[in-house]
Amino acid sequence: MNGDALWELQQLDTALNQLQRRLTKLPEAAALAEADTRVAKHHGAVGAAAKLLSEAEATIEATEHEAAALTAKRHRLEQQLKIVSETRQADALNHEIDLLNAHRDELDDRELEAMEQQAQAEQRLSELASEEDAVVAMRESVAAQLAVAKGAGADDEAELTAKYDAARAALNIEEIAVYDYQRARHGGIGIAKLIGLRCDGCHLDLSRAEVDNFKRLPPGELVDCPQCGRVLVL
Ligand SMILES: [Zn+2]
Repeated sequence: MNGDALWELQQLDTALNQLQRRLTKLPEAAALAEADTRVAKHHGAVGAAAKLLSEAEATIEATEHEAAALTAKRHRLEQQLKIVSETRQADALNHEIDLLNAHRDELDDRELEAMEQQAQAEQRLSELASEEDAVVAMRESVAAQLAVAKGAGADDEAELTAKYDAARAALNIEEIAVYDYQRARHGGIGIAKLIGLRCDGCHLDLSRAEVDNFKRLPPGELVDCPQCGRVLVL
């Protein structure tokens, strides 16, 4: 078994894994999510102001319609007033006209309030419209940055994948079997390197005697770390 080739594949495998993990957590992706939230908030504010505006307009239209009806009715009552002869009838008509006038005052107040709401909503909409370009441009620029980062990441990933594939193709079928078995058993890192007396898989030291024993083995014979069980490449 070629321990060095196993170790090389492990290094490429680990690097590829780290890159892929990093690509799923790009800071540019977080920035884009934030920009999307800002755009959504902006559109929400536009929607809310537009709703207030259309409510105000509907109120104004309804009160004007109602006021016109009141005016017509009052006009009729005033005509009647000119022709009645009895005081009692005249009093009744006058009372009704007073009621109409009171109602009319109420309507005028309501319309005034609606006109204020209309002016505020229009003002808000025009402020939002002037911010719109900046909000959209900000989001586009963040999206472009993410595309660049993803593109660079994809290039790196393709390069590493090609190296990984080549390193894997250089192994024989038994070595691939050992590699895959060890990888699955040890959470992605099944091949470790001995650095001095230390296994870089579990970071524990072996005894000098153990290491000396390993070094006396014929080349091509694989040894396992006595602490973690990973294949230990000397
Ligand atoms: Zn170990």
